[in-house]
Amino acid sequence: MFNQLGVIGCGLMGGSFALALKRSALVKRVVGYSKSPSTTERALRMGVIDGIADSALQAVAGSDIVLLAVPVAATETTLKAIRHLVEPGLLVMDVGSTKRDVVDAARRGLRERIASFVPAHPIAGKEGSGIQHADAALYAGRQVILTPLAQTDATLLQKATDVWSAIGAQVLKMTPENHDSAFAAVSHLPHLLAFAYFGSVLGQPAGRDLLSLAGSGFRDFTRIAASDPTMWRDVLLANREEVLKQSQRFRQSLDALEQVMLAGNGAALQELLRVASEGRRGWQMGAPRVPPAR
Ligand code: NAP
Repeated sequence: MFNQLGVIGCGLMGGSFALALKRSALVKRVVGYSKSPSTTERALRMGVIDGIADSALQAVAGSDIVLLAVPVAATETTLKAIRHLVEPGLLVMDVGSTKRDVVDAARRGLRERIASFVPAHPIAGKEGSGIQHADAALYAGRQVILTPLAQTDATLLQKATDVWSAIGAQVLKMTPENHDSAFAAVSHLPHLLAFAYFGSVLGQPAGRDLLSLAGSGFRDFTRIAASDPTMWRDVLLANREEVLKQSQRFRQSLDALEQVMLAGNGAALQELLRVASEGRRGWQMGAPRVPPAR
């Protein structure tokens, strides 16, 4: 049980974490700081936080757990602003979608107090951002990746593991490098493709007419194109090397399909589709592996 959670960035992710801790009776009190006072006022009215902090530093004062849930580009400035209240024993986590840049920012921002920082990325979210979408069940049944550093305090790492587990998440540990290369493939590239594809349909002269005809396949495929552009700008830029590598692989896969279509080679086309289709049908979210392609 924590005495006080300090949430810095009272949006979807920060608000959901606060609600989840409250629902599981893991915290006595939550204070929140966000860029806009209207956000913290709303969070207070919604019962997500119990008190408003006027600064990031004030959200840390008296807290024994702090969650940074700001855009990844704001990590360094925020950690610098709170550094002198980051005492040994205080657990500080983030929820950023990229980890190498966050860890570098944390080293610069926290310096000798880096041991308190446990980098985290919950594999959970919604297209709608903002406190109005905060949800106590957002993290239940979802994976949370922790990317501890050599300097991370082992007790705090265990506390981080325990708190995410207590709100129903499954905790995995990875290096920041492995995290960024894996999530370029299974999260960042699909978002890039969804934005590109939706944009290409919408940008056609008859785009709006085409959209009026689209069905559930189109809806499912493009769902994540409605995600927050600011957040995805930051993620795609922060992890651009890995995302561009994955984009190159995707291009090769698309080229292979186009080539067999151009050649009218139905058998080869079917084989490429079969491998993907069987893989997809054998895949379960959160399961360790899909069956190998025949
Ligand atoms: P969000 O709903 O927009 O919340 C972010 C909050 O931080 C907003 O309330 C925002 O502004 C506030 N903020 C922005 N800059 C700030 C600063 N410098 N200091 C204090 N507060 C600041 O976004 P989110 O979806 O929760 O995303 C937060 C983090 O979660 C991002 O790093 C993202 O990579 C990560 N993440 C998101 C998802 C997802 O699906 N959404 C999934 C996994 C990880 P206002 O106070 O003006 O409202």
